[in-house]
Amino acid sequence: MTSAVPPDLPCHLQHYIDGRSVDSASGATFKVIDPVSNKPYATAAAGGTEDIARAVAAARRAFLDGPWPSMAGRARARVLVAIADAVEAREDRLAELESFDTGLPITQARGQARRAAENFRFFADMIVARGDEAYSVPGSQLNYVVRKPVGVAGLITPWNTPFMLESWKLAPALAAGCPVVLKPAEFTPLSAGLWPGIMEDAGVPAGVFNLVNGIGEDAGAALVEHPDVPLISFTGETTTGKVIMRAAAEHLKGLSMELGGKSPVVVFADTDLDAALDSTLFGVFSLNGERCTAGSRILVERPIYDEFCRRYADRAARVVVGPPSDPATEVGALVHPEHYDRVLSYVEIGKGEARLLAGGGRPEHLPEGNYLAPTVFADVKPDARIFREEIFGPVVALTPFDTEAEALELANAVRYGLAGYVWTSDLKRGHRVAGRIEAGMIWLNSHNVRDLRTPFGGVKESGVGHEGGHRSIDFYTDEHIIHVALGDVHTPQFGASR
Ligand code: NAD
Repeated sequence: MTSAVPPDLPCHLQHYIDGRSVDSASGATFKVIDPVSNKPYATAAAGGTEDIARAVAAARRAFLDGPWPSMAGRARARVLVAIADAVEAREDRLAELESFDTGLPITQARGQARRAAENFRFFADMIVARGDEAYSVPGSQLNYVVRKPVGVAGLITPWNTPFMLESWKLAPALAAGCPVVLKPAEFTPLSAGLWPGIMEDAGVPAGVFNLVNGIGEDAGAALVEHPDVPLISFTGETTTGKVIMRAAAEHLKGLSMELGGKSPVVVFADTDLDAALDSTLFGVFSLNGERCTAGSRILVERPIYDEFCRRYADRAARVVVGPPSDPATEVGALVHPEHYDRVLSYVEIGKGEARLLAGGGRPEHLPEGNYLAPTVFADVKPDARIFREEIFGPVVALTPFDTEAEALELANAVRYGLAGYVWTSDLKRGHRVAGRIEAGMIWLNSHNVRDLRTPFGGVKESGVGHEGGHRSIDFYTDEHIIHVALGDVHTPQFGASR
């Protein structure tokens, strides 16, 4: 079964530096494949040190001499709103490109475009609403704080929901006045190719937005190492985050890291079971399970464990797996054969560690492409690798518990701490358990709904720093504190006594 190839698909993707589309200085390229045919559909310029240097130099010029950093927040906000409009005008195109390149079901790719536009509208409002702080010291001084853009921001993004995650960094960085160099994920560079047109339509000055495609260890590493890039916002794997943190230490760069997860869902026996089933199925199988906040470990209180397992496996077996372009598809194709093999290897490991209830391999009706039937393991022990390690695919582990204390011990037994979910009709217990799960974000009787004003990020090995709301603007700006004398200043008169 094949996926629809979008019309006018580009066959070559370039960098965008200082307002112009260009190839790599070396002429190097890499092949980009789609996850249904697993055949190359395009080449992309493979950036290296020289291309990053050109992009950073353009962004640095825009920072030092261009209008963007010193424009009034209100003026930048108008441009951000124009970017949101330009994103929305491309909604259909964006959805078809994103779905084709990532394997995400087309209906879910469409939601990503709306969310990307919302990110720009949100940060446009925020940069206007935000005031600087001022304190007067009675009678003598006024101290005030001026926030200035930090400088050229390096943005490094992953392949799951690529366009939306790029917008999540671009919107606050631009709102704060930072020129940027974006390095998209090499598995999925297609939708990032829309940004140059969007930025030009919105009137973003040349040099403020720069894009360098390439492999992480080359283009990504060069961006992290560049001395004129004072801050890096990174979303990706925990192991990559550690490499970046080490390299960034050389220049003491500001870092924001949104990393991996293995998030627990605690389901108590008193919960609304139908709602919990809907939510926990959606929570791990939407976005192909390639979701950082996926609730991939479901801990279920013993009295309802057998019923939960039976009903969960039954529903998982009926999830529609199919071509990403089909509107009926609920789970599409995993992003890349390398990733698919990795997920399949975890499925094989799981078969030796736990009881397979559903899935466990390629669906029979899809002989080609990176398809995996939603896979459910039960009786998963806390020392199992499928309990402890991030799989990042449509694979879920079910584990029983007997007491609240045991549920918390299981929930907190991994190195990650991105998200957590609690299902109970006892609100006292709900708040108590939510407060004790080691995670940056907890949802109680809910799935992944959030307000952009709230912080987003993980604890433990799931991240460093939180983005979202004011925290994003804080990250992309530095505080400068100015002290002004309002009257006579009495300074001890050194050297005046003889
Ligand atoms: P990845 O770490 O392999 O790659 C992410 C980006 O980093 C890519 O652009 C890649 O080219 C670049 N990169 C790789 N090595 C680099 C290096 N040495 N220096 C600089 N850049 C380098 O991650 P991925 O496989 O693309 O994405 C999946 C991961 O992202 C999962 O672990 C997932 O949980 C995580 N993720 C987290 C969040 C969050 O908000 N916490 C959101 C989405 C995805």
